[in-house]
Amino acid sequence: MQPFEYVRAAGVREAVTAAAGPGAAFLAGGTTQVDLMKDGVFAPRTLIDITRLPLRGVTAEQNVLRVGALTTMEELAADPVVTRRLPVVRDSLLLAASPQLRNMATIGGNLLQRTRCRYYRDLSCACNRRTPGAGCDAIGGQHRMHAILGTSEHCIATHASDLAVALVALDATVRVSGAGGERTVPLTGFYRTPGDRPDVEHALQPGELITEIAVPLLPEGTRSGYLKVRDRVSYEFALASAAVAVRVTDGVVRDARVALGGLATVPWRSPEAEDVLRGARASEETYRAAAEAALAAARPLPGNAFKVELGKRTLVRALSTVTESLGPWRPE
Ligand code: FAD
Ligand code: SF4
Repeated sequence: MQPFEYVRAAGVREAVTAAAGPGAAFLAGGTTQVDLMKDGVFAPRTLIDITRLPLRGVTAEQNVLRVGALTTMEELAADPVVTRRLPVVRDSLLLAASPQLRNMATIGGNLLQRTRCRYYRDLSCACNRRTPGAGCDAIGGQHRMHAILGTSEHCIATHASDLAVALVALDATVRVSGAGGERTVPLTGFYRTPGDRPDVEHALQPGELITEIAVPLLPEGTRSGYLKVRDRVSYEFALASAAVAVRVTDGVVRDARVALGGLATVPWRSPEAEDVLRGARASEETYRAAAEAALAAARPLPGNAFKVELGKRTLVRALSTVTESLGPWRPE
């Protein structure tokens, strides 16, 4: 590991001021950051420990849940309002990582975790995201886990966070603090598809700190859930996932939110699927039409072509399960 300066910040202003210098980075739970530093993928000059900042806790207001950025994944999953009003958030958290990791990992860190593309983490491989202009070994290599939506000729890495998929479906926002003051950024639009700059992953300016995530509560009567398909049932990232929230009355879908994970370079909201669902009969035929619309823009490579049908079936099953069950869907 490269030598670095360690700073423990006592307040948000102190953290943001320390982060204004070149080569500075934040350390939260460390479950991604420390791995990357040990592997030599990332070498900050200054590491700012933010774990003592007063940014931990969940507060429910009438229509919104406010989550401090240092709240752990496990704490958010156990929140009673999340269980009752946002099962899609709870499921996305409990289907991620392992209990040990979820007790260390923070919500801010989860949203800013890096891709799990194995070429990104292997310094002997060419990677445009790690070294701009170097090339991409995944495109002609092993890309079974890689993306089929939002890709470019420069990068096909999938976005790794499950929670981000649920939050994008719910129109969550992040509160950000930086040298220029505070601002609120909608999570839909926060993440950048790779285009010709795979190294630019999101809308944060260097040194900006996420302080809070605001999640609009789903209206009563809305059913939601997160379905994740993966190679093994724990400790594994998604091959395909779907976050859905639907309100059905008299057999007709009145409102729908759909986002996909494991398939795209960013948490993938699908307005195309939502347009098919709204006003249509709540039936498997409708769900299949929505899935066709959601995957219409897929651009698979030979090694991940199976993800097109897998993605469609994942969405159909997620929609069928939340609308047919008597209560919110629970993972097995
Ligand atoms: P850190 O590692 O401390 O930081 C991660 C990044 O976020 C760094 O760049 C850091 O600078 C930045 N950062 C952290 N907090 C802030 C903030 N408040 N403002 C600005 N920048 C910030 N995740 C899933 O979603 N699904 C999975 O199935 C899954 N499986 C995993 C399996 C393993 C074996 C491991 C190691 C991880 C897995 N993860 C999974 C990822 C895990 O959820 C993340 O590592 C974790 O959420 C990161 O949080 P952290 O607090 O440890 O962040
Ligand atoms: Fe790097 Fe993206 Fe290619 Fe993976 S897919 S090697 S992250 S450029």
